[in-house]
Amino acid sequence: MANGSQKNGGEEPQRRQWALLVFYLALLVGVVWVSRGFAVQSPRDTIPYSQFKQHLEKGEVLECQVEDSQILGLIEPKEPSASSRGREAGDFQFRTFRVEDPDLVQELLEAGVRFEGVRPSTITPLLLTWIVPLLLIVFIWIFAFRRLGTSGQSALNFGRSKARLVADKETGVDFDDVAGCEEAKAELYEVVDFLRNPQRYQSLGAQIPKGVLLVGPPGTGKTLLARAVAGEAKVPYFYISGSDFVEMFVGVGAARVRDLFAQAKKQAPCIIFVDELDAIGRQRGVSVSGASDEREQTLNQLLVEMDGFEINAGVILLSATNRPDVLDLALLRPGRFDRQVVIDAPDLDGREAILKVHARNKPLSEEVDLRLVAKETSGFSGADLANALNEAALSAARRKRSEIIQDDLEEAVEKVVAGPERRSRRLDPQLRRRIAYHEAGHALVAAHSPHADPVRKITIVPRGQAALGYTLQLPADNRYLMTRAQMLDQIQGLLGGRAAEELVLGEVSTGAENDLERATALARQMILLFGMSEDLGLVHYGQRPNAYLPADVDGSLQGEYSPQTAHRVDLEVKSILDRAYQKAQAALARFRDQLDRVAHELIRRETLSGDEFRQLIGLASPEDSASRLPSAKLEERPADSGSASVESN
Ligand code: ADP
Ligand code: MG
Ligand code: ZN
Repeated sequence: MANGSQKNGGEEPQRRQWALLVFYLALLVGVVWVSRGFAVQSPRDTIPYSQFKQHLEKGEVLECQVEDSQILGLIEPKEPSASSRGREAGDFQFRTFRVEDPDLVQELLEAGVRFEGVRPSTITPLLLTWIVPLLLIVFIWIFAFRRLGTSGQSALNFGRSKARLVADKETGVDFDDVAGCEEAKAELYEVVDFLRNPQRYQSLGAQIPKGVLLVGPPGTGKTLLARAVAGEAKVPYFYISGSDFVEMFVGVGAARVRDLFAQAKKQAPCIIFVDELDAIGRQRGVSVSGASDEREQTLNQLLVEMDGFEINAGVILLSATNRPDVLDLALLRPGRFDRQVVIDAPDLDGREAILKVHARNKPLSEEVDLRLVAKETSGFSGADLANALNEAALSAARRKRSEIIQDDLEEAVEKVVAGPERRSRRLDPQLRRRIAYHEAGHALVAAHSPHADPVRKITIVPRGQAALGYTLQLPADNRYLMTRAQMLDQIQGLLGGRAAEELVLGEVSTGAENDLERATALARQMILLFGMSEDLGLVHYGQRPNAYLPADVDGSLQGEYSPQTAHRVDLEVKSILDRAYQKAQAALARFRDQLDRVAHELIRRETLSGDEFRQLIGLASPEDSASRLPSAKLEERPADSGSASVESN
């Protein structure tokens, strides 16, 4: 827990106070109990009611007090009897418990006994029914409180922030561990510099941003970068995830925010890092669910706290999100998260640098070419690359090698892209032939389309969940946008598999579903988002749900158009797909001999590399004609950040 320092001061005296209080309470209860005992304790014989009645009949009862539940009194036996248990004859005090006896008063009167009623004591029942249980409850409560209190997660501890104060001034990560985002590092360096020498900035009257928001797709190193900032600046670092603020009870999140800032101010200079900010920072008032109430309060509190601490107080709020589009505008205005640092998926150089960082503690063989691996991993995030290197190390270990070789890396990259190989899945020759033609169809259509990405690999080894084979196409360079011709060629390539099946086997199969799904999604995007249809024109009809996920991962578009337009969109999608399919069929029919050659080779060898494939069909290597793809960064947001396209069967 982060609040060690503030606890230590008050812990001891507080404990003594509690002990004292408990002691006094115990004493009080004891005194009450004992005094009550004394009052009751006069020597009395408890006799059965029947015996009391006998004494009464004989006129031996001198006086009695009739209470609610008992009768007390004095008896003077006329002669000694067995019932007086051998004691000397003489007066004795008796007590008997009352039995339902309506005639009692009459009999007492007849016997001439002096008797009186007694008002039921108010103290004893009060004590028994109210004070004792109350004391018990207080005891249990105190006990439970102390128990839970020491274990850290108390019911009364709700408002405590869950932030972890990460190791004293040492996060173990610095800027050298983060690669491939040099601009982001340069911007954050200013923050580091301020935390190291605040006086220099203060004397110049320069204001450092209070809040820096790291924005980027998942796995690009936002969390890592925030830790690196703290590590570089050598200041304490509070880590909390946005979802840690959200609890079932309204108001808890806000209390946590307050507590977090209070703690941070004590530790200044320091960094507060709120990861996954979108969990609390969503736009207010848009959702109607009950949870939104709590979140809104939390967000309001965060805004208040951000305004509340002075600039240059030495607390810097870092935050990360991959959904900047849903954040509340109030968070983004100047004075709060006014600085936004974008961390995009790494480019070729960035990927190579990240691979180098993660290869530092792994023995690589001489022949390993990380540049080549970087080329093959277009669209990978930092986390994917780290994962691929780890897979490569695992595969080398499985094969009892002492070094990681290039093959391990290639296999690992494929595994990350398409899932693990399933060599054990046995396929009969008929099916293998179909899959071979299907994949050869994809590759061949792509190879004969001028704007398609070059084929890197074709295989009919089953992989992952569903893929029975796949064709891997990767752009030759970073791709920041796609032209209409490239999109059409990609659709055509996707349909090549089914076209080959139909052409060669005369019958189609279910194997093309994924191809069709992706081709359809592409065609819809062309029409709805990119204004690439003559019929529907330039209108932007849809909304991507998440700008940071490639559209073909999350193909669901939120359309904004009338039913009439929807009908035209459907027709247009169909016409794009039909034309592409016809072209694919035509290409395959024309190069039928090549199709057979590639398919047979696939059946024989299962896997063909891009170069082997091109040799088979007598085509030049893509590196010679690579310059056809645009490599300049023309648009802020990539249309499709060049993700590897896998055409699985
Ligand atoms: P995010 O928070 O952006 O989703 P993380 O920072 O959690 O991503 O990254 C996950 C892991 O991926 C990191 O721990 C690191 O091993 C690796 N990684 C991601 N980006 C980079 C990078 N730019 N340089 C080095 N490693 C990276
Ligand atoms: Mg993260
Ligand atoms: Zn396919």
